[in-house]
Amino acid sequence: MKRNDIILIIVILVFAAAGLLYMNFSKKNGDMVVVKVDGKVYKELPLNKDTTFEIQGVGEGRNLLVIKDGHADVVDANCPDKLCVDQRQIDKDGETIVCLPNKVVVEIESSIENEVDAVAQ
Ligand SMILES: [Zn+2]
Repeated sequence: MKRNDIILIIVILVFAAAGLLYMNFSKKNGDMVVVKVDGKVYKELPLNKDTTFEIQGVGEGRNLLVIKDGHADVVDANCPDKLCVDQRQIDKDGETIVCLPNKVVVEIESSIENEVDAVAQ
């Protein structure tokens, strides 16, 4: 093997590794917070923008959603079990915080696929 061939192979391997890392990174980190009430999309918020949002669940249900430093968390609620408040903050694609009494679901979603589609068009 010539020296140039070895360099070429190394370059290809580095690019392949970088591509795999990028794909894994894209999968892990969602970038949208989707709030659903009673199975319907109620609000979509960007995960990278700090905000506090009050979710009106079914009936008198209220959940206080806080997005901070790239994490989404339910910090307060008026449901009887408070399980949603106890759940850990979420930031990964597909993770959810569920409040059964208020029928509220907070879900992390990734819009990276959509962005790729937009570039391709
Ligand atoms: Zn709850």
